[in-house]
Amino acid sequence: MDLFYRSTRSNHDAVKASQAILKGLADDGGLYVPESVPRLDKSFEALSEMTYQETAYEVMKLFLTDFTESELKDCINKAYDSKFDTEQIAPIVEAEGTYYLELFHGATIAFKDMALSILPHLLITSAKKNNVKNEIVILTATSGDTGKAALAGFADVKGTKIIVFYPKNGVSPIQEKQMITQKGENTLVVGITGNFDDAQTGVKQLFGDKELAERMNQAGFQFSSANSINIGRLVPQIVYYVYSYSQLLKMGKVEKGEKINVVVPTGNFGNILAAYFAKHMGIPIAKLICASNENKVLYDFFETGIYDRNRAFVLTSSPSMDILISSNLERLIYLTAGADADKNVAFMNSLATSGRYEITADMREHMKDFYGNYASEQETTNTIKTLFEKTGYVIDTHTAVAACVLEKYKKETGDETKTIVASTASPFKFTRSVMNAIDIKYDTMGDFALVDELSKIAKIKVPNAIEEIRTASILHDTVCEKEDMKAVVMRFLGI
Ligand SMILES: *Cc1c(COP(=O)(O)O)cnc(C)c1O
Repeated sequence: MDLFYRSTRSNHDAVKASQAILKGLADDGGLYVPESVPRLDKSFEALSEMTYQETAYEVMKLFLTDFTESELKDCINKAYDSKFDTEQIAPIVEAEGTYYLELFHGATIAFKDMALSILPHLLITSAKKNNVKNEIVILTATSGDTGKAALAGFADVKGTKIIVFYPKNGVSPIQEKQMITQKGENTLVVGITGNFDDAQTGVKQLFGDKELAERMNQAGFQFSSANSINIGRLVPQIVYYVYSYSQLLKMGKVEKGEKINVVVPTGNFGNILAAYFAKHMGIPIAKLICASNENKVLYDFFETGIYDRNRAFVLTSSPSMDILISSNLERLIYLTAGADADKNVAFMNSLATSGRYEITADMREHMKDFYGNYASEQETTNTIKTLFEKTGYVIDTHTAVAACVLEKYKKETGDETKTIVASTASPFKFTRSVMNAIDIKYDTMGDFALVDELSKIAKIKVPNAIEEIRTASILHDTVCEKEDMKAVVMRFLGI
């Protein structure tokens, strides 16, 4: 039987997985949510013998029920191949008794690769299944990592174009260089003079622009989203939580059925929501620990039940988490409101008009597996330095936010449950922040000298993703005001 997906903003409109993937966002502006969360139908013993690709099939077949076995396996095999620099795809590294799940071994050395290497294949397959003739135009706003991972995934994929908007002064120099050196005739990268939320709001407006949609359709184009609201991103992210548990089992680190905690450095709430789904599929996860940086909207939310974006936006050393509106939280709001779209719409309207909403006591009760906390900039820095000095293991700034929050959680609760930290970026992606955390003396060095120095002290080879941009030339230099995003899109499409 097919699993259907419903919008968080209407009580009818149920679509199949391939349709939900194609649309990204529902017509009513809602996010698609599966009608129920399927249970894993393989034992932990069986799972612990599986490769990443085999695990991916076991998880994804339960969500993408309208894909045939060969379609799905084909997507998986095209995605999780030698683009990753390790056969395990998502290896676990133990440091100080904590298990770091390294999600950064793909093409752009950040966790977005885990989903964005498969999304283009899921999209093209979905288009074929639904007889879509239009060319798919991926439109996305990025706080840094999504953009490059999406560009890498879609570049030169036939039948697609990709347009990426990023905050001109809100991403790291290496992130920016990665994007503006992107090759591929079908790619466009644009900096906007604003922050990530401006870029995201602008992109949402373009998605909702009926006049633009009509013009595009006439010219043979249609939008789709590569942002983390697409279930084609959410579902592949569930895989590594299942895989990590079975790996811990295989390594003899946990007993069968033993509960673990998971800590996720959170921005748009996509990655931690995937862990929540893994839990509901049957992975014994006790606490879902949501780690924020100084943009601590989610911490306040879990503390008080009030989501309030009315606050100053802080630029931090973990820019991929510099977010005041966590889009994927809407799915949790909808689910904990009893899959009641009307209730969810009331909250979202309140968010749109006053920038805040307050959930009910009952909903909070349904969120009690979540724990939120945050790390200040200084705490993040200290965490990197201390872990390196004790173990030689170097983590990036986002992962450090998670590691710091884990320490706070343990101090506060005394809970010693074994814990997986989602390690979301390679330290080479945020080299300057990481090296300055270890020793401020490094601040005088140039970007690539720093990369070499990090390689030396961490005893890790410089990843290919960094080697490539050392000498690459800049291919994208468009910068625009947020009001001009539509014009830029139309020019690129020639409409
Ligand atoms: C995107 C990103 C995050 C945040 O993930 P969400 O799914 O948006 O919560 C954390 N760390 C890094 C390195 C990222 O790129």
